[in-house]
Amino acid sequence: MILGIDVGGTNTDVALMMDDGFDVRTFRTAEILAGFSEFIEKYWPDVSVVGIGIAAWLKLTPDGLQFINAPNLPEIPDLTLSKPFVVDNDANCFAYFASKTLGYSNLLGVTVGTGIGGGVITEGKIYRGCGAAGEIGHTYVGGEKVCICGGRGHLEAYFGGWAIENAEKKIESGEIYECDGFKLFCMSLANAVMILNPEAVAVGGRIGGRLDSSLIQENVEKWVHSAIEVEIHTVRDDYAVAKGAAMLARDTILQTQS
Ligand SMILES: [Zn+2]
Repeated sequence: MILGIDVGGTNTDVALMMDDGFDVRTFRTAEILAGFSEFIEKYWPDVSVVGIGIAAWLKLTPDGLQFINAPNLPEIPDLTLSKPFVVDNDANCFAYFASKTLGYSNLLGVTVGTGIGGGVITEGKIYRGCGAAGEIGHTYVGGEKVCICGGRGHLEAYFGGWAIENAEKKIESGEIYECDGFKLFCMSLANAVMILNPEAVAVGGRIGGRLDSSLIQENVEKWVHSAIEVEIHTVRDDYAVAKGAAMLARDTILQTQS
């Protein structure tokens, strides 16, 4: 079986890919970092490959994987495993999951949780650029508000989970669609749509996955040229990153081996 792990700032989600679907669990990140939990230990002998999604910007160098930046992680974990594994940015894993499950080979994936992440899938593969491609949360949307990454005026500083007070209540009441952050979010999506011209945009994450896709669609269409068609989807699966990491491990390591 294949193990997918989503290492977040507070929680770490684990998804075991079995023949008949996924078995999922959530742990505190501190516990995972301290050593593998019983759950993983139980299955570890049967695990063939591991996929890890992590809230960090990564770069593959000749010396191995390098962390460029990890603004939303308390510490950079030591990623040494006794099984073959792949590590990728969490939003890239999300985008990969969305691309496979929604059936689009050209897709922009955006996660809104504690931070805002982005991943680009082109012709079914992750587009990385020099490592941090797709990081829509750290693009400039105006103003001087300081972002957690140290930059100013970034989208995440207006619409990331750490920037919106009582996000869950605001989603429930619909108040979130009235806030400036939502408008900036939709403008940013429209800009990205014009640059990438994807078939679809998938919005996920603890906050993003609970938004109304038709309201995002409507607001994105205000800013994007009418000749450009794009489908906006929300993906409400808290284990999308862990599952995407498992799929990525399957499609990269196992396919290269066979
Ligand atoms: Zn930033």
